[in-house]
Amino acid sequence: MSWSVEKSAELYGINSWGSGFFRINSSGNVEVTAFKDKPGLDLHRLVQDLVDRGVRPPILVRIPNIVQTRVALISQCFQNSIRENGFQGTYTGVYPIKVNQQRHLLEEIVDFGKENSLGLECGSKPELLIALAFMDTPHAHIICNGFKDVEYIETALLSQKLGRSTFIVVDRLAELSIIIASSKKLNIKPKIGFRAKLNTQGSGKWVESSGARSKFGLTPSEIVHAIDILKNENMLDCLELLHFHIGSQVPSIQAIKASIKEAARFFTELFTLGASPKYIDVGGGLGVDYDGTGKTDSSTNYSEQEYANDVVSILQAICDERNVPHPNIISESGRALVAHSSILIFDVLGMNEVQKHSLPFTIDKKDSLLVKDLLYIYENVNHKNINEFYNDLIEKKNDTLQLFSFGGLSLEQRAKAEDLYWAISTKMTKIAKDAGADAEDIYWNLQRELSDTYFCNFSVFQSLPDSWAVNQVFPVMPIHRLEERPDRRATIADLTCDSDGKLEHFIDTDAGSEQGYIEVHDLIPGQPYYLGAFLAGAYQEILGDLHNLFGDTDTVHITINENGTYTVDHVLYGDTVTEVLSYLDYGRSELVELVRKATEQSILSGSLSHTEARLLMKHYEEGLAGYTYLED
Ligand SMILES: *Cc1c(COP(=O)(O)O)cnc(C)c1O
Repeated sequence: MSWSVEKSAELYGINSWGSGFFRINSSGNVEVTAFKDKPGLDLHRLVQDLVDRGVRPPILVRIPNIVQTRVALISQCFQNSIRENGFQGTYTGVYPIKVNQQRHLLEEIVDFGKENSLGLECGSKPELLIALAFMDTPHAHIICNGFKDVEYIETALLSQKLGRSTFIVVDRLAELSIIIASSKKLNIKPKIGFRAKLNTQGSGKWVESSGARSKFGLTPSEIVHAIDILKNENMLDCLELLHFHIGSQVPSIQAIKASIKEAARFFTELFTLGASPKYIDVGGGLGVDYDGTGKTDSSTNYSEQEYANDVVSILQAICDERNVPHPNIISESGRALVAHSSILIFDVLGMNEVQKHSLPFTIDKKDSLLVKDLLYIYENVNHKNINEFYNDLIEKKNDTLQLFSFGGLSLEQRAKAEDLYWAISTKMTKIAKDAGADAEDIYWNLQRELSDTYFCNFSVFQSLPDSWAVNQVFPVMPIHRLEERPDRRATIADLTCDSDGKLEHFIDTDAGSEQGYIEVHDLIPGQPYYLGAFLAGAYQEILGDLHNLFGDTDTVHITINENGTYTVDHVLYGDTVTEVLSYLDYGRSELVELVRKATEQSILSGSLSHTEARLLMKHYEEGLAGYTYLED
């Protein structure tokens, strides 16, 4: 019956999804490290230190060292493949800015990427403006995707004069004539890419990015037409790159291989048509193993090295077959570079328990027949009659609600009936568990209904929007007390008033799939209990919204030193209430003034004393200056 940190590690699957960055230390706390086999940083101690410094939960912890390791890893995987296959082209990555645009993080990515000539991918004009200001890495590329107007295109062209290697990717045929016109006007030779609309679809949650009906890309007939246009303009040599992107988080290597095969054919066919592009850009899609199962859409069935091997070897085989020179490879992995680097840590505010291990009342003659029937089930349910009694229980539950609505049951009797319902359910789960396969459905139904609700200090909509929008699973677990057995099962509810503001998709390590609850520890009064949501570095921050006016959380950038010590590089305080309200055009002084006027009125009419007025204004102004989350 004894518990251990090893058992916790197994239960939460941390050694699978942790990718070597996260593990449990001997004190029972989650530990994070950016360098394999080096001492780690105790996350629980870090949170305590941060709280002492005045940083308030929920806290987003960013660890740029992890990005550094990921940038180096992916680059290394491609270098390995290129060397082992004798591939003639080079590899460089570009980081797609949209995955996480936060300034400090972007600066760090550009900085760490210098060694590997990491460039930037822009999907919009604002992103190009960031790229131009923040990146001047020699030999690194800027790839311009997305909808483009004249200003976007001319800025991209002019950036070549700053020494940047900027490709303009034709996502829609209409852009080609603007590129040609602008390049003539400015007298700058464009570096053009064509985005091919592949027939191969990705797989997983973002399949819509590819296939014949995808939003971007040129169809085969448009490509043939575009080549003619370039030929007529005597500009065919400007076509330097073929681009494709089959969608993010592709869980299956088969889908990736199929897309590379199709794209490689497009590439060699461009030579048949008289062009001679030197680059192929394989887009993003390299997945992150969010649940460690290798089986679900939130996972991957391949490693980074397998991904690189397949890209390189398929391109090589098809180019060799067609006698076409091997291209230089560019990839646009974003999620795979930054997902691991952010952790959201939040505290549990309280819980709601529905289980009842005994009856909190006695039954007497005056009780309703319904309550007496339920008591009969409670006292007599056993493994032989569980199926029959379970059906009776469901029926009695419906009867309770019906009777109450029609006025046939008092509130007091309804309360007794419901307490009995939970007590029976609690007892039945134990019986169903012992009954094994015979009562498995009953067991799982009750298990889900009986899990506790842990109310937590964060907003799903602000901090983990994809868990709401596309049911993405993020690894969530306690960051401390992992030497103790977690005896409770809970779903996580956030601070918003929205019933969708909850987490109820968790990793089921036993079955290699999902479950509706996580195992958690009992709350100890007076002791904060912290949970972490891991691998939250990609897409979540910018997709997050202000639902119920919960704003940005406090964020810290931590450098982990090789001996396990750390330094806090940046503390970015989250939005104040005033800031969030100002986005909606509520000015602080106006609000204060309006409430002050209302207090004057009430003082005049005698319903508010001067002391009460002062207290109200104090709370009002402090509320405006404060954090949007709960502070202790
Ligand atoms: C979003 C996007 C990416 C990034 O994809 P990841 O799966 O995060 O690597 C790359 N290229 C393009 C064109 C994109 O739109």
